[in-house]
Amino acid sequence: MNFHVMTLFPEMITQGLSASILGRAQEKGFIALNAVNIRDYTLDKHKRVDDYPYGGGAGMVMAAEPVVRCCRAVMEQIAKENGGCPDTKEQKKCPRVIYLTPQGCTFTQAMAKELAQEEDLIFLCGHYEGVDERAIEMIVTDQVSIGDYVLTGGELPVMVMIDVIARLVPGVLNNKESAESETFQDYLLEYPQYTRPEVYEGLSVPEVLLSGHHAKIGEWRRQQSILRTKKVRPELLAQAVKEECLSKKEMKFYREITGDGTKEK
Ligand code: SAM
Repeated sequence: MNFHVMTLFPEMITQGLSASILGRAQEKGFIALNAVNIRDYTLDKHKRVDDYPYGGGAGMVMAAEPVVRCCRAVMEQIAKENGGCPDTKEQKKCPRVIYLTPQGCTFTQAMAKELAQEEDLIFLCGHYEGVDERAIEMIVTDQVSIGDYVLTGGELPVMVMIDVIARLVPGVLNNKESAESETFQDYLLEYPQYTRPEVYEGLSVPEVLLSGHHAKIGEWRRQQSILRTKKVRPELLAQAVKEECLSKKEMKFYREITGDGTKEK
């Protein structure tokens, strides 16, 4: 999968994503990262990419021209590499262009799963007061926020998105199960994890985990997930019940801990 990032600070992206699992995934070719400097596409002789906002107000706005030219260049590069279609009528084949903005839909694991199906994704990182609205209208297909707070630029948000999406790409994680049994799977938070030693400062690892009895361990872990989700994110647990993600046995457990009269299926 190919991640193309349009930014004024490409080194932030390449350095930020070069370590650990994502660094290894790039070396092995499971993902590719293409950080493109928007400044390379300005026609301004002083290499300016921003200007004062029309109507006045604080801060600077990233101009439309370098952003749109940069995006067209990335589209052309993708088209050349895999026979895509930057400007033909076959719009659906064109890669999605995601603008990172606090005004977008909030990024979720479900969104990451959907985006992980794409071959190429193009991201636009804003800076200063954001990007000229006309560029957004012309090139952007999705507007995504990583949460209800305002950062100085889209570089950290895009790294968050790429990290989350990339670990869903086959091959990126060594162990397929580690992406399948974790938090948000079936709307549940993950169960507690333990490693050696067996006793640490008087605190023991739960007995069942030492039993070697896989079915019992599995049952205990699901129950812990349910308990933890009930305590911290009750709205997620309600969703798990609504979407029928719990087995008959787990529903019985759910009713015991909540006193909920939801009918058995
Ligand atoms: N003036 C803009 C507003 O009020 O909506 C905020 C601009 S912010 C200071 C600069 C850039 O940071 C944005 O264009 C966006 O790319 C990025 N950014 C800031 N907060 C973000 C968030 N929560 N999620 C995604 N991107 C964000």
